[in-house]
Amino acid sequence: MKGDKRVVIVICDSLRDDLISETDTPFLVELSGRATRFGAHRSVFPSTTRASSASIATGCLPARHGLYGNTQALDEGDGLVCRNAGATDFRDRMRRATGRTLHVPTLAERLRWHNEASIVCSNVSPGAAYFQDPDGHGYVYHSAGSYGPGAQPIDDPASAALKKGAAGDKAMTDRFCAEIVAERAPALALMWLSEPDYTGHHSPLGSPQHREAIRAADACVRQVFATVRRIDPSGEDILFMTGSDHGMETISEAIDLNGLLVAAGIKAKLDSRDVVVAPQGTSATIFFSEAARARVSTTREFLRRENWAGHVAAGAGLAEIGLPADGALQVAVAMAADDRVNPHGVAGYAPIVFNPEDSESKIGFGQHGGLGANEQHPFLIAEGGGFAKRVETRPSCLTDIAPTVLRHLRMDHDDMDGQALRQGP
Ligand SMILES: [Zn+2]
Repeated sequence: MKGDKRVVIVICDSLRDDLISETDTPFLVELSGRATRFGAHRSVFPSTTRASSASIATGCLPARHGLYGNTQALDEGDGLVCRNAGATDFRDRMRRATGRTLHVPTLAERLRWHNEASIVCSNVSPGAAYFQDPDGHGYVYHSAGSYGPGAQPIDDPASAALKKGAAGDKAMTDRFCAEIVAERAPALALMWLSEPDYTGHHSPLGSPQHREAIRAADACVRQVFATVRRIDPSGEDILFMTGSDHGMETISEAIDLNGLLVAAGIKAKLDSRDVVVAPQGTSATIFFSEAARARVSTTREFLRRENWAGHVAAGAGLAEIGLPADGALQVAVAMAADDRVNPHGVAGYAPIVFNPEDSESKIGFGQHGGLGANEQHPFLIAEGGGFAKRVETRPSCLTDIAPTVLRHLRMDHDDMDGQALRQGP
């Protein structure tokens, strides 16, 4: 495909649209001045990195692609257990428990007949990286293990050395530009930065550390864009897109949902397999065994009485937020977000669902997963490939990225939840 149509995408994990500014993201502001900026861009539910990654890769909502968050209950033969979808072995667990990974093809699968079709470099969790291409059609480079076509492991000391944070992102960017964008020139090259997500989870939003992480991500995007436009100055062949997967809210408190369900008599014990909570940061999905299905409506009514609970969906109501209603997942709750302003001038607070696997207190730091206004407002900018200079005010979603990639590559794209983005003017 060298010299032909290509797409290069950079994801800045967790960067909120309203934190794009002259001081912290001078390049994204500059790029907006020559590109289409999507002003009403939305994440998916749960607004977690892994579900978002699968939605970007497939153009479908979680209901159709089958990954329902950062954690998910699986029945591996011994009842429902909550598993971490970020773990290196989650793909294999999912395949064993359900017979497959994602339910719909990824971009990597659709592009598999192209030479060097799809190359992903990711510095976030292994799960989020591997759900770009869970069945090994293209290349995925990650510190926990890199794979090529046929899911063949690749000896990749450069990725193995990467750590989350600005330095690791920068090292990944150097390699992405030199080796992947400039030399190997795949139809789709996608790079997923760990910042500002990594720092946002470990410091207050808008704090000096968080703003430094945003600046570092901005510099990585600038470097990739400069490489792209050195190769294709007119922008006719290479479509460049940069965006985030979700934003963040500031954590106000932690709610022990598991413990409350036990206290309310809905769940037998903290570790019982009848009713299983999958924490998603500022939301939770709740799975029910066949025997416990009668407790779905009681659970919904219980949640609707709690002041920390925002939107509660159950049964058929799950379809409205992009989740399936025909399996063990029967209830979802997004925590009640509010618009208070934190000490660094950043608006938006929400409680989190306590996760026993991640029990360190992060109150006052950033988190996401729910339906809050800020966590649901990632940014997206498209440059080249026929995108005019303008601001799109109509809603767009993470699921619109994959059909836009395929349209640029002159491939069919009408079987996804998302639609190819309008080019304007
Ligand atoms: Zn993320």
